[in-house]
Amino acid sequence: MFDNGRGACYNGSMIAEETLKILTESAKYDVSCSSSGSGRKNAGGMGNAAPTGCCHSFTPDGRCISLLKILQSNKCIYACKYCPNRADADVPRASATPEELSELVIDFYKRNYIEGLFLSSAVERTPDFTMERMMQTVKLLRTKYRFHGYIHLKGIPRADAGLVLEAAKYADRMSYNLELPTEASLKLLAPQKSTESLLSPMRQLMREKAVFKEEHKKGHFLPAGQTTQLIVGASPEPDSRIVRLSEALYQKMGLKRVYYSSYVPVVRDPLLPDLPTGQLREHRLYQADWLLRFYGFTAEEIAPEGENLPLEYDPKCAWALRNPQYFPVEVNTAPLEMLLRVPGIGGRGAYKITEARRYGALDFADLKRMRVVLKRAKHFITCKGKYLGAKDERAVKGLLALGARQDEARQLSLFDEPERYGLGGTHLSGGAGVLGASLGAAEGALPAGVRLLGTRETALTALTGEM
Ligand code: SF4
Repeated sequence: MFDNGRGACYNGSMIAEETLKILTESAKYDVSCSSSGSGRKNAGGMGNAAPTGCCHSFTPDGRCISLLKILQSNKCIYACKYCPNRADADVPRASATPEELSELVIDFYKRNYIEGLFLSSAVERTPDFTMERMMQTVKLLRTKYRFHGYIHLKGIPRADAGLVLEAAKYADRMSYNLELPTEASLKLLAPQKSTESLLSPMRQLMREKAVFKEEHKKGHFLPAGQTTQLIVGASPEPDSRIVRLSEALYQKMGLKRVYYSSYVPVVRDPLLPDLPTGQLREHRLYQADWLLRFYGFTAEEIAPEGENLPLEYDPKCAWALRNPQYFPVEVNTAPLEMLLRVPGIGGRGAYKITEARRYGALDFADLKRMRVVLKRAKHFITCKGKYLGAKDERAVKGLLALGARQDEARQLSLFDEPERYGLGGTHLSGGAGVLGASLGAAEGALPAGVRLLGTRETALTALTGEM
């Protein structure tokens, strides 16, 4: 879209190139879409991930689409301490009119640059003024230009409820960024916001969507639901607090996704940490989030009160190591819900096991073919009573931590087969393993309160993310 300062490829709309640069650059800190944060620059080859302007999202049928990611305005009256666009920041300012933005989207769409829009904004003048301009932009797109592409719209806290509902009619997805996990931290770091000012419109949108569905109204109302973003590490709350908040948002607000953004000091403030949080913590939170949404874990199981998620193992491994009484499980008889709790067995693997074992008992080679990551799973399972895991608990912990370090050290390619790391190492045959008291005790045993997935169809639905 931009040509590195040598002039814009785009010049068809009324919007000035400088305005466009400011508004796309200012939008890059919002990660509540599916692609953000790459710092890789073009050193003479093709493509460039660093310039702002585009992000990606996934449609319900799995397509990845490019979105123009832009602010309506970066002229903010608020002063969130962590934000480069806060009122007292010395940055170039700009705003676009609904006509300019809608024209721009249509022109870019016609040129095949983008397939949709991710529209956010700073709070310009008042929340109502800003929300109204954003609503007008999406309304123009849907009504004047008859644009049916994907639109993700950010909500403005404290804006009039009527304006929010009107805007929601034209969007596919809306999101209010909670940013900080407690009221106290919001008060300190984003004093013009409050938990209620963010949760209240989320609740209202959820209710409206339910009514829309109940009354079988024609058309769409936020078909892609709501999402939010939390900054990790800007305030002192432990991961246990963040995971509990995410659980409540999924259960009580019906959110589609919670995005986690590890804190990076872009602006200096005595109330903020000097150092970045580090991406491993963010990564662990995404893994924990996955366990909440698709694996039947509760927040309490994933992160004990007051604790951070361990960095050396993924959260499922950490849970299994804290609960040796449930292991090893016999893969030929364990219920689906328990298979989902075995480190190294993913959603698809667990479902494939339950299907395949109907036709005959499975062995380790079968599991390998099903893409079970045996280098982790072998410490927690038996196959036809055979155990291939490590000899003692210390060895298991060491191997798992080592495996986690190796996994995180490189990017998996499309052609990697994760399960091929499995079968080597210590072999004990016929034993019940070191993590559980006996095979009989673990077989079929489920931790108290585990949510049963019900029929196979329900299970499959859960595993494919439509839960
Ligand atoms: S409301 Fe806060 S986070 Fe949003 S642009 Fe303004 S200062 Fe930044």
